[in-house]
Amino acid sequence: MKNPSTQYKKLRRVTQKAISGYKMINPGDRVIVGLSGGPDSFTLLHMLNEYKKYIFNEFEISALNVDLGFKGNTENLKKIFVFCKERDITFHTVKTDIKKLALAPDAKKNPCFICSLNRRKEIYNFAFKNSFSKIAYGHHQDDIIETLLINILFGRKIDTMYPVQEVFSGDIKIIRPFSLAPEHLVKSVAKEINTPQTKKLCPVDGDTRRDKIKNIIKELQKSEPFANIKRNIFRALSNNSLNFPEFRSDFDT
Ligand code: SF4
Repeated sequence: MKNPSTQYKKLRRVTQKAISGYKMINPGDRVIVGLSGGPDSFTLLHMLNEYKKYIFNEFEISALNVDLGFKGNTENLKKIFVFCKERDITFHTVKTDIKKLALAPDAKKNPCFICSLNRRKEIYNFAFKNSFSKIAYGHHQDDIIETLLINILFGRKIDTMYPVQEVFSGDIKIIRPFSLAPEHLVKSVAKEINTPQTKKLCPVDGDTRRDKIKNIIKELQKSEPFANIKRNIFRALSNNSLNFPEFRSDFDT
C-alpha cells in the first residue's frame, strides 16, 4: 500500500498487536477468511494479505463466501472474485439455501441467529474438509461489545466472541484479528482501500437485534458525554472473573 494514512497505520498496528498478542497465526498455517461481502471482511482479507507478505509468506491465505441463496447474489460474487483476484488470493464459494431457514415463519423472532449458526456450520465443514487450520473473521471491537449485550439481554448469559476460539476439538481455531480495532477505524480503512460496494439482499438487514443494540449504545453515549460507554464495556470484559483474555485496545471507541 503506497502512502497509507494514519488510520491505516493504526489499524495495521492493532491488527498485528492482536495477531501476535493472542498468538493467532503460526508458520505453516492455512487460513481461510470468511468473506461476507461487507466492508469489514474485505478489509480483513486485505490486511491479512499485507501481513502475510510482511512476514515472508509464512502462512497461506484463501477466502470463502457462503452464498445464502438470496436472489441477485451473482453481482456480489463477481465483485468479491475481482477483489480476491487483484490480490492473488484463492476464492471459494459454497452455495446454500440458508435464507429459507432464516426467513422461515418459525424463525421470525431471531433470523440472524439461525442464519449465523448455519453459515458457521458451512464454514467449519469447508475448513475441516479442506485442511484449513484457522478461520479468520472480520469482527471488530464493536461487534464484541454488541454481542456481549445481545447475549445478556436476549440469551441470558454473559458471553461474547473471543479473539481466538477452538472448534473441532481444537483442530481448527477461529481468529478475530480486528478484536482490538474499533469499528470506525475499520470502516475508515475500508473506504481508503476502496472495498467493493455489494448489494444488501436480506430483507431483515438494518432491523436486527444488533442494529437495535447499536442504537441503544449511541443514545446512551449521547446522554452521557463524559463516559466512554463502549470503552467501558470492553474494559469490563477484562475486569471480571470470567476467565476472559486481556481485552484492551489503544483506542477509545
Ligand atoms: S441480516 Fe439477514 S443475512 Fe444478515 S445475519 Fe441476519 S438473516 Fe442473515
